[in-house]
Parts: sequence; C-alpha cells; structure tokens
Amino acid sequence: MDLKDNLIKLYEDIEIAKDKSNFNRDVKLIAVSKTHPVEMIDEFNKLGVKDFGENKVQELVSKIEDKRIEESLKNNELNFHLIGNLQTNKVKYIYNKVKLIQSLDRIKLAKEIDKRAKNDDIIVDCLVQINIGDEDSKFGIKYDETEDFIYELLDYKNIKIKGLMAIAPNTEDEFLLRKLFEKMNNKFEEISSKAYEGVEMKYLSMGMSHDFKLAIEEGSNMIRVGSKLFGNRNYN
Ligand SMILES: *Cc1c(COP(=O)(O)O)cnc(C)c1O
Repeated sequence: MDLKDNLIKLYEDIEIAKDKSNFNRDVKLIAVSKTHPVEMIDEFNKLGVKDFGENKVQELVSKIEDKRIEESLKNNELNFHLIGNLQTNKVKYIYNKVKLIQSLDRIKLAKEIDKRAKNDDIIVDCLVQINIGDEDSKFGIKYDETEDFIYELLDYKNIKIKGLMAIAPNTEDEFLLRKLFEKMNNKFEEISSKAYEGVEMKYLSMGMSHDFKLAIEEGSNMIRVGSKLFGNRNYN
C-alpha cells in the first residue's frame, strides 16, 4: 500500500468536504496510528503529518520512547494525542508527553491530571469527550451534562479545556450521523459563546475514516483518521 497516495486522497476528500460545508474551518488531521508500527508513523511524518493518535497508554509510551522518532518528537515536529480511555492510575505515564488528551470524561481523572500538572507547573491541554450516541459501549459524558461538567472543570487550573471530542456510532445512517455532528457543533458554539476563563473552544474533534466527510460538513475542525491512511488494523 502506498501511504503517500492514501494521504493525497484524504487531503482531496477533506477539501471537497470543506467546500460543501457552511463552515470555513481549517481541519486538523490526527493520523490514528494505533496497532501500526513506528516505521509508518515516521513515513507519514516525513510526508508532513505532524499529529498522531493512540488509544492505549502502553502502546503510546513505547512509541514515544522509540529512538527512530526521538528527534522529531523533541523538535515538536511530531506529536501524539491520547484518544482512548485513560485510567486514572495511568495518567502519570503520559500527562506531560502528549499534545492533547482527547478523552477527559471524569472529574476523578481531571483531579489526577491537574495534580500532576500542578506539581510540574505545566498546563495540560484536554478535550472533553462526549458520548454523542449515548451508547453503553462508549466512554464520554452525557451530552446534556456537558456544561455542568465543564463548569466543574474550571476549578482545575492546570488543565486547559481546548474543545470537545466525540466518537459517533458505527452506522451507515447518514441522517443520524449528521444530526449527531450538528448537535456536537451546537454545543461547541454554545460553550464558546460563554467564554469561560480557562476554556478555549478551539477544537471540535469528530470524524473518523467512515464519517469524516459528514463531520467536516457539519463543522468538525479536527478529524481522527486511521484505516483510510494506514490500512486495516491487525490486532494480533
Ligand atoms: C481507532 C480510532 C479512530 C480511527 O478509526 P478509523 O476508523 O480507523 O479511522 C478515531 N478515533 C478514535 C477514538 C479511535 O479509537
């Protein structure tokens, strides 16, 4: 498989979706590298991709420590985002090593991130994950609890809220997907308009390989694409 061709095709599709969209938002690409080797990350990085997403702490840490991408990480030419569920006892391994924790969904987790960040005198950027399809199988806070949750987070001064993240249900139902993405954008704009101190509604992270076009049309400005770039995942 030619990674460069995949990337060019993706960039084309992103432009088409942006043209269809009523929003004039730049779209940031997170290449989801989970299960794929560091060689492929390095190859995409050399093609200009800077941001990579991982969903497991252990895999993320082993990639961060890989000598082959050490230099790029150090120079900030390559960043990792944590996009998967984060257990509180694993915060210590990654809180100061990722660009963005995209899966903040519990006060207990916020407390732990904030404590560690305060200790180091750093700010940790996070997205609040919303369970937009209200699915038992997915993490994230309930849509209707978003504002209350963010309000509570304001106490944690070493966490900076940079936006919202959602994983849409795995469905072909375009009407439903559009509706859910639209709801996410409504919440994104609603919270932006409140202009809370310590909250910067910069990223609306939604859209994956099968639904990123719809997500962009409905206002997404950060997509997380794995299989469209890297090919199918092999979990063995
Ligand atoms: C795996 C994953 C993706 C990418 O999925 P693809 O369908 O391969 O594009 C995006 N977001 C999250 C949170 C993921 O876990």
